[in-house]
Amino acid sequence: MKITFLGTGTSQGIPVIGCTHPVCLSDDPKDKRLRSAVMLEWKDYRYIIDCGMDFRQQMLRENVSKIDGIIFTHEHADHTSGLDDIRPFSRAMGNVPLYVPERIRGNLEQRFHYIFTKVNRYPGAPSAKIHVIENKPFTLGDKIMIPVEFIHGKLPIFGYRIENFAYLTDLKTISEKEKEKIRNLDVLVLNALQINSHPTHLNLSEALELIEDLQPKKAYLTHINHYLGFHKAVESELPENVYLAYDGLKLEL
Ligand SMILES: [Zn+2]
Ligand SMILES: [Zn+2]
Repeated sequence: MKITFLGTGTSQGIPVIGCTHPVCLSDDPKDKRLRSAVMLEWKDYRYIIDCGMDFRQQMLRENVSKIDGIIFTHEHADHTSGLDDIRPFSRAMGNVPLYVPERIRGNLEQRFHYIFTKVNRYPGAPSAKIHVIENKPFTLGDKIMIPVEFIHGKLPIFGYRIENFAYLTDLKTISEKEKEKIRNLDVLVLNALQINSHPTHLNLSEALELIEDLQPKKAYLTHINHYLGFHKAVESELPENVYLAYDGLKLEL
């Protein structure tokens, strides 16, 4: 399986519009972060987790001409707002499969009413089919995807495990029971927002603590804001086998 980090930034991305923080002014391409998303590829299958406002740019950058579906973690704009840009895919393939946690289905149907409505559809509107996900394994292509539930501020949201890879973003707390689903991983991707603590996201020290507990072979940090620091400086301080992800990073599993 090939994993591509489409974006590794928090909700406003890096640089933040108009911001003069040194990280936002950095020339290092690894300090430029689009909104967080990953692409999973194996055999002829290609799935995307999350579809924020940078989806179009991410698909262009990675030269993607076909997808088999999009899986959502939660409803926040930085994870869903790019949905209109599935149009080239729905024109080519018809309904794009969307794997949507039950709790957020209504939110997507309301915000993107024109995509899901059957009446008075305007020509060229994207078309999609929702597959509702509950907190139990489901089939994705010829593999099994396991939802992992955790808390993001007050929201119960999903991350996903597929074989020995797991993608957990926007996590703040996770129960011991759900943690059992993400042990024995080869690669864990986990959010680490900044140095200071935050009400809805793990900061760096909390993320490292959870990684220490879960003991994956390797961990990659994502959903990063400019206050975390320069990519190069932060990565040089991380424990062994923990890395800072960056946009365009590809892993082979
Ligand atoms: Zn987010
Ligand atoms: Zn969020």
